[in-house]
Amino acid sequence: VEVLAAVRPENAHQARLLQVLRDAGPHPRASLGDLVSLSRSRLAAELDRLVARGLVDVGGPGASRGGRRSSVVRVAAGTRFLGVDVGATAVRVALTDGELNLLAYRHEPMDVRRGPEAGLRRVVELAGTLGAGPAGVRLAGAGVGLPGPVSVRDGTPVSPPIMPGWHRFPVREVLATELGCPVLVDNDVNIMALGERQAGVARAVDDFLFIKIGTGIGCGIVVRGEVYRGTTGCAGDIGHICVSVDGPVCACGNTGCLEAYFGGAALARDAAAAASAGRSAFLAHRLAEAGTLGPSDVADAADAGDPVARDLVRDGAARIGEVLGGLVSFVNPGLVVVGGRVAGMGHALLAGIRSAVYRRSVPLPAAPPIVLSELGDRAGVVGAARLASDHVFSAA
Ligand SMILES: [Zn+2]
Repeated sequence: VEVLAAVRPENAHQARLLQVLRDAGPHPRASLGDLVSLSRSRLAAELDRLVARGLVDVGGPGASRGGRRSSVVRVAAGTRFLGVDVGATAVRVALTDGELNLLAYRHEPMDVRRGPEAGLRRVVELAGTLGAGPAGVRLAGAGVGLPGPVSVRDGTPVSPPIMPGWHRFPVREVLATELGCPVLVDNDVNIMALGERQAGVARAVDDFLFIKIGTGIGCGIVVRGEVYRGTTGCAGDIGHICVSVDGPVCACGNTGCLEAYFGGAALARDAAAAASAGRSAFLAHRLAEAGTLGPSDVADAADAGDPVARDLVRDGAARIGEVLGGLVSFVNPGLVVVGGRVAGMGHALLAGIRSAVYRRSVPLPAAPPIVLSELGDRAGVVGAARLASDHVFSAA
């Protein structure tokens, strides 16, 4: 099959060169050998092979070094990756260059419950509007994040609770055929964590947690610079950790899950209940206006000083912080990044999470900084492109 015969490095040295050039950008040839620990002759040989295979460009003289002019080496200028982030209620698609800079980005509402055929058709159409795919530029690879458990090996969702019709759907094969390139599929939280490590707030951090608070709640676990997925790809599924056995019933059928207390769906439920009961004029007004309530309405209400909304944010932050405190003690990460739609609540949410975690973290030296995502909505597409590039820039 042609799509699987993508041009990839021939050995680990070439792979390392490509990864360094991706992450550090164009580099003078003279200083590249030090970065990848190769002798001058070996470096020259590997670079020749990479140029011959179209993976790397060697340009004219760049900055001088030690009195000598050195030519500049970079990932081939025409290299393009596609990053796709399918959420529960929206889809985001981005085209990047070989250094994973965003060249074009599109997002729109999409209900993942419409099923895989309609959803993936729309992904391919959006890629087309960015100039990628069958009629556009040739893609080196594409990465896809999905809002549920994924078998990365098989490239399929596995029993995703909020994605009817997607179980074991061959997402990777379908998109590889449509887009004409290798495709990698992972959980959406994992790709957001990868995005923050590639170009966001976790750039220099090898061990960190990425907490996504969207419709559901999940945790990306990065250990030694790589996503830890567990035996069956379910690591970090913290939304269904029990925080109180006699709590509300969760969508999963159990009671008292973290997600049943907080997250987009629980917030919408609690906000609507407060509005209907006449406990919040602000939320009642929003509900009458739009017909539904979401996290952004609660955030706006909290900002406007609405006491019910402030309670919802404070209680939710405390629940998240309780669970996170345990995770922090267990994993001892260097950083915790909070992202996802509910993270738009910003400072009030973060302050609540911090105080709960720091209260729980004994001894205090184990408590890492807790910060908001830097890439926001774009963390997923950057991380998806990174996932694809990690595959394409590894030895075949
Ligand atoms: Zn649950």
